[in-house]
Amino acid sequence: MKKVTMDDVLNKDIMELIIPGDKVAHVQVDNPLEHALLVLVKTGYSAIPVLDPSYKLRGVVSKTLILDSIFGMERIEFEKLSEHKVWEVMNDTPPVLKTNESFLDAIKLSIDHTFLCVEDQYGAYQGILTRSALLKYLNHYLRDNKNKESACLES
Ligand code: AMP
Repeated sequence: MKKVTMDDVLNKDIMELIIPGDKVAHVQVDNPLEHALLVLVKTGYSAIPVLDPSYKLRGVVSKTLILDSIFGMERIEFEKLSEHKVWEVMNDTPPVLKTNESFLDAIKLSIDHTFLCVEDQYGAYQGILTRSALLKYLNHYLRDNKNKESACLES
């Protein structure tokens, strides 16, 4: 693998690290909760983006948000899964990273989120950037430099 420098890290184009939209599981704003729960359970993801029919990002929905919404005072109200729609329970202010933002912006935003939704400057949805992709890239850089330092000390 190519050695990564600090400049490479700081100037890394985040588009090289994202999972493109066509590879990201998503649901539609008007889908019933039962469909969203099925997608979440079958894919194994805890949260996924919510898009509208024009493929624009509208929010993020998670298993926790759905399950929270069906817990009544005395029982789990399973019927709500078919009665209610994704837009009613989703987080409509998800963390969004713009394609022209820097690698450091991405790191900062991902401290509190396992993934960021990515939009271009026109607000078109591009995909997601996971915290694990950022860590993987940083891990590569840090290990490379550790090895270089050890080599210097030994010579
Ligand atoms: P990971 O770092 O791969 O564990 O992913 C972190 C989170 O990002 C997952 O729990 C999902 O919420 C989201 N995620 C990752 N990959 C996908 C994908 N292909 N489709 C939808 N959501 C994803």
